[in-house]
Amino acid sequence: MQLEPEFWKNKSLTEMNDAEWEALCDGCGKCCYQKFVEGRGKRQKLYFTRIACNLLDLNSGKCSDYQNRFKRVEDCTKLTKKNLPDFHWLPATCAYRLLYENKPLFDWHPLISGDEASVARAGIMIAGGVHEKDVIDWFEFVIDEEQNS
Ligand code: SF4
Repeated sequence: MQLEPEFWKNKSLTEMNDAEWEALCDGCGKCCYQKFVEGRGKRQKLYFTRIACNLLDLNSGKCSDYQNRFKRVEDCTKLTKKNLPDFHWLPATCAYRLLYENKPLFDWHPLISGDEASVARAGIMIAGGVHEKDVIDWFEFVIDEEQNS
Protein backbone atom coordinates (compact mmCIF):
# COMPACT_ATOMS: atom_id res chain seq x y z
CA MET A 1 0.00 0.00 0.00
CA GLN A 2 1.23 3.43 -0.91
CA LEU A 3 1.75 6.50 1.22
CA GLU A 4 0.06 9.47 -0.41
CA PRO A 5 2.10 12.69 -0.35
CA GLU A 6 1.59 14.54 2.93
CA PHE A 7 -1.25 12.19 3.86
CA TRP A 8 -0.98 13.31 7.50
CA LYS A 9 -2.14 16.77 6.42
CA ASN A 10 -4.68 15.76 3.82
CA LYS A 11 -6.42 12.76 5.37
CA SER A 12 -8.22 12.22 8.64
CA LEU A 13 -6.98 9.36 10.83
CA THR A 14 -9.90 7.20 9.73
CA GLU A 15 -9.19 7.83 6.04
CA MET A 16 -5.60 6.60 6.26
CA ASN A 17 -4.72 3.22 4.81
CA ASP A 18 -2.81 0.64 6.87
CA ALA A 19 0.60 1.70 5.57
CA GLU A 20 -0.10 5.35 6.32
CA TRP A 21 -1.36 4.49 9.82
CA GLU A 22 1.83 2.51 10.54
CA ALA A 23 4.05 5.25 9.08
CA LEU A 24 2.61 7.77 11.53
CA CYS A 25 4.54 6.18 14.39
CA ASP A 26 7.74 8.21 14.83
CA GLY A 27 9.47 5.30 16.59
CA CYS A 28 10.12 7.17 19.84
CA GLY A 29 9.22 4.04 21.83
CA LYS A 30 7.66 6.04 24.67
CA CYS A 31 4.46 4.02 24.63
CA CYS A 32 6.56 0.93 25.44
CA TYR A 33 7.52 2.24 28.88
CA GLN A 34 5.55 1.08 31.89
CA LYS A 35 2.96 3.15 33.69
CA PHE A 36 1.12 2.30 36.84
CA VAL A 37 -1.82 3.62 38.78
CA GLU A 38 -1.92 4.08 42.53
CA GLY A 39 -4.88 5.02 44.70
CA ARG A 40 -8.56 5.15 43.92
CA GLY A 41 -11.15 7.71 42.92
CA LYS A 42 -9.99 11.33 43.23
CA ARG A 43 -6.71 10.20 44.77
CA GLN A 44 -5.87 8.02 41.82
CA LYS A 45 -2.56 8.93 40.25
CA LEU A 46 -0.92 7.73 37.06
CA TYR A 47 2.85 7.30 37.26
CA PHE A 48 5.14 7.29 34.24
CA THR A 49 8.42 5.40 34.48
CA ARG A 50 11.62 4.77 32.56
CA ILE A 51 11.00 1.03 32.87
CA ALA A 52 10.78 -0.38 29.40
CA CYS A 53 9.04 -3.43 28.05
CA ASN A 54 11.60 -6.24 27.94
CA LEU A 55 11.33 -6.36 24.15
CA LEU A 56 12.16 -2.69 23.63
CA ASP A 57 15.59 -1.90 22.19
CA LEU A 58 16.55 0.93 24.54
CA ASN A 59 18.85 2.58 22.03
CA SER A 60 16.74 2.51 18.89
CA GLY A 61 13.29 2.76 20.55
CA LYS A 62 12.14 -0.15 18.39
CA CYS A 63 10.51 -3.40 19.40
CA SER A 64 13.04 -6.22 19.06
CA ASP A 65 10.33 -8.74 18.09
CA TYR A 66 7.59 -6.67 16.48
CA GLN A 67 6.02 -9.60 14.62
CA ASN A 68 5.57 -11.73 17.74
CA ARG A 69 5.03 -9.00 20.32
CA PHE A 70 1.44 -9.96 21.16
CA LYS A 71 2.43 -13.58 21.76
CA ARG A 72 5.42 -12.65 23.91
CA VAL A 73 4.03 -9.74 25.94
CA GLU A 74 0.62 -10.37 27.44
CA ASP A 75 -0.42 -6.74 27.89
CA CYS A 76 1.01 -5.38 24.63
CA THR A 77 -1.85 -3.53 22.94
CA LYS A 78 -2.20 -2.53 19.32
CA LEU A 79 -3.08 1.09 18.77
CA THR A 80 -5.93 1.20 16.27
CA LYS A 81 -8.31 3.77 14.84
CA LYS A 82 -11.00 2.36 17.10
CA ASN A 83 -9.16 2.35 20.42
CA LEU A 84 -7.13 5.56 19.94
CA PRO A 85 -9.48 7.62 22.20
CA ASP A 86 -8.58 5.26 25.08
CA PHE A 87 -4.88 6.09 24.68
CA HIS A 88 -5.12 9.54 26.33
CA TRP A 89 -1.88 8.79 28.17
CA LEU A 90 0.18 8.79 24.97
CA PRO A 91 2.99 11.39 25.08
CA ALA A 92 2.14 14.84 23.82
CA THR A 93 4.69 14.34 21.02
CA CYS A 94 3.02 11.16 19.71
CA ALA A 95 1.87 11.60 16.12
CA TYR A 96 -1.39 9.73 16.74
CA ARG A 97 -2.25 11.93 19.67
CA LEU A 98 -1.23 15.11 17.82
CA LEU A 99 -3.44 14.36 14.83
CA TYR A 100 -6.28 13.18 17.07
CA GLU A 101 -6.08 16.59 18.78
CA ASN A 102 -5.93 18.38 15.39
CA LYS A 103 -2.34 19.50 15.93
CA PRO A 104 0.46 19.41 13.33
CA LEU A 105 3.37 16.97 13.46
CA PHE A 106 6.72 18.29 14.66
CA ASP A 107 9.45 19.02 12.12
CA TRP A 108 11.58 16.20 13.57
CA HIS A 109 8.98 13.58 12.63
CA PRO A 110 10.62 11.21 10.11
CA LEU A 111 7.76 11.79 7.64
CA ILE A 112 8.85 15.44 7.50
CA SER A 113 12.59 15.23 8.17
CA GLY A 114 13.03 12.13 5.97
CA ASP A 115 15.44 10.80 8.60
CA GLU A 116 14.57 8.33 11.41
CA ALA A 117 17.51 9.63 13.46
CA SER A 118 15.91 13.07 13.77
CA VAL A 119 13.71 11.75 16.61
CA ALA A 120 16.73 10.97 18.81
CA ARG A 121 18.49 14.18 17.78
CA ALA A 122 15.46 16.18 18.92
CA GLY A 123 15.78 14.59 22.40
CA ILE A 124 12.37 12.94 22.22
CA MET A 125 13.35 9.50 23.47
CA ILE A 126 13.34 8.54 27.16
CA ALA A 127 16.83 8.65 28.64
CA GLY A 128 18.22 6.09 31.09
CA GLY A 129 15.74 3.37 30.27
CA VAL A 130 15.92 0.00 32.04
CA HIS A 131 14.18 -3.24 31.21
CA GLU A 132 11.34 -4.45 33.40
CA LYS A 133 13.15 -7.73 34.09
CA ASP A 134 15.98 -5.78 35.78
CA VAL A 135 13.77 -3.76 38.14
CA ILE A 136 12.66 -4.58 41.68
CA ASP A 137 11.26 -1.29 42.99
CA TRP A 138 9.25 0.52 40.31
CA PHE A 139 9.08 3.74 42.38
CA GLU A 140 12.82 4.23 41.87
CA PHE A 141 12.19 4.73 38.18
CA VAL A 142 9.23 7.11 38.20
CA ILE A 143 9.66 10.12 35.89
CA ASP A 144 7.73 13.39 35.60
CA GLU A 145 4.88 13.47 33.19
CA GLU A 146 6.80 16.17 31.26
CA GLN A 147 9.65 13.72 30.70
CA ASN A 148 7.14 11.48 29.02
CA SER A 149 5.76 14.32 26.88
S1 SF4 B 1 4.44 7.06 21.52
FE1 SF4 B 1 3.36 7.22 19.56
S2 SF4 B 1 4.96 7.82 18.09
FE2 SF4 B 1 6.02 7.05 19.94
S3 SF4 B 1 6.38 4.86 19.51
FE3 SF4 B 1 4.42 5.00 20.60
S4 SF4 B 1 2.87 5.10 18.98
FE4 SF4 B 1 4.84 5.57 18.03
